[in-house]
Amino acid sequence: MSSIQHDVKSIFHKLGVPESAYTGGTLAVRTPVTGEIVAHVPEVTAAQADTVIASAAEAFKVWRTVPAPRRGELVRLLGNVLRDNKELLGRLVSIEAGKVVSEGLGEVQEMIDICDFAVGLSRQLYGLTIQSERPEHRLMEQWHPMGAVGIISAFNFPVAVWSWNAALALVCGDSIIWKPSEKTPLTALATQALFEKAAEAFGGVPAGLSGLLIGGADIGRQLVDDSRVPVISATGSTRMGRAVGGAVARRFGRAILELGGNNASIVTPSADLDMTLRAVAFGAMGTAGQRCTTLRRLIVHSSVYDTLVPRLKQVYGAISVGSPLTSDALVGPLIDEASFNAMQESLVAAKAAGGAVCGGERVDVNGAASFYVRPALVEMPAQTGPVLEETFAPILYVLKYDTLEEAIALQNDVVQGLSSSIFTTDVRELEQYISAAGSDCGIANVNIGPSGAEIGGAFGGEKETGGGRESGSDAWKGYMRRQTNTVNYGRTLPLAQGVKFDV
Ligand code: NAD
Repeated sequence: MSSIQHDVKSIFHKLGVPESAYTGGTLAVRTPVTGEIVAHVPEVTAAQADTVIASAAEAFKVWRTVPAPRRGELVRLLGNVLRDNKELLGRLVSIEAGKVVSEGLGEVQEMIDICDFAVGLSRQLYGLTIQSERPEHRLMEQWHPMGAVGIISAFNFPVAVWSWNAALALVCGDSIIWKPSEKTPLTALATQALFEKAAEAFGGVPAGLSGLLIGGADIGRQLVDDSRVPVISATGSTRMGRAVGGAVARRFGRAILELGGNNASIVTPSADLDMTLRAVAFGAMGTAGQRCTTLRRLIVHSSVYDTLVPRLKQVYGAISVGSPLTSDALVGPLIDEASFNAMQESLVAAKAAGGAVCGGERVDVNGAASFYVRPALVEMPAQTGPVLEETFAPILYVLKYDTLEEAIALQNDVVQGLSSSIFTTDVRELEQYISAAGSDCGIANVNIGPSGAEIGGAFGGEKETGGGRESGSDAWKGYMRRQTNTVNYGRTLPLAQGVKFDV
């Protein structure tokens, strides 16, 4: 048994995951750290998935009647269990998704943060009261639970995305069914075990309140097509979202779609270049370029281009690439060979389109089965070819501009609309950028990069990013149904708009 296999076994033992949950199954799980297989996880059959869905639908009928602050207590306990097991789960994220240590731990911290947020929400979930035009009438809106919420998640945030959905859905009175990425089932098994610990401390929850479906896209499709699941929250590629969005719409379900990004930052003449440099480095190379909010396009004013870009190239040349488990490198591995090949194809296409490529080559860290790369910086003459696509790898395309209008137009001239940012100390530029005529993205930051969101704000993007919002602010409304109530407490029956109907 290799040291990583031993690590996985020991983490699962401490978390109480039985060996049968990760051995002898059909789904081989590789760690991108070395490329070796570390587990064989059993996948659910269609019939088993059906039982999980039926059970979640039943659990909902009980859970919706539990007072919301009491539901919040379950999520508070979940947050505490996550606090107690942060190191273990964070390490498993590093093993399974290849994140460097601080990012693995950061992902678990994000889970804790959203639990705290949801606990507060559980005493709110406010509706409105509205003035009625009719005498002795009261008009109000209240929010009720929706039902079972299907959560489909991507490999790159293997557990945080579940928690954004789960913590809110649970306080909203919904049950949850999780279909994690087939590339990251281990962290899902661990998270489910932690949920069960919280449920036990809570004194028990309805059976099936939180279901887990381990499997590939087929199981995802089954979940998406099931009308017992009124909400599907799907995080992943735009290709997946197009299929899921269409299928959910056909049965009039509700889809929350969190899809691909092609995020840009604009560097203006007044930018603090030292800070910009650091922000760009984290935004473009952090998580080895495998965040939905990764900085992929840098749009630099011609007056600062020759100062900033050579410095950036130095940082790119010097950045540490290495194992997240045995080094303190800042850039870990790509998830798999397909990801490496996609990166190389984009670099070839960028060169063909006139790009000047710096970096991008493979780095041998742990042998032929793992895929580490030096992040690539590509100076492009125009926004064409691969610049218009999301390649899920650390490639930063650099473009030059002369007027802010031109820069904003370039930034917005892609099909994705997730995140964006501007580096400026000029208040006019700043305001123009975040105005209605500025960035068209769901996230528009100032003097920070496009990635690394906190949970307090609503998270998501426009256009082919899918339009969904998760996490903070009023994203909870996506997990509830709104009911408008008109209450007549008088003895007459005045009709709205002065309509007469005397019988
Ligand atoms: P992916 O689309 O390959 O897979 C995501 C999930 O969808 C997996 O669980 C997969 O099994 C499932 N799936 C695939 N096809 C399906 C179908 N037809 N029906 C139901 N389920 C299906 O994505 P990935 O490679 O795991 O993740 C990377 C992508 O995710 C990137 O595009 C990234 O930008 C995006 N992402 C977006 C956000 C966001 O919040 N906007 C967050 C993280 C990742």
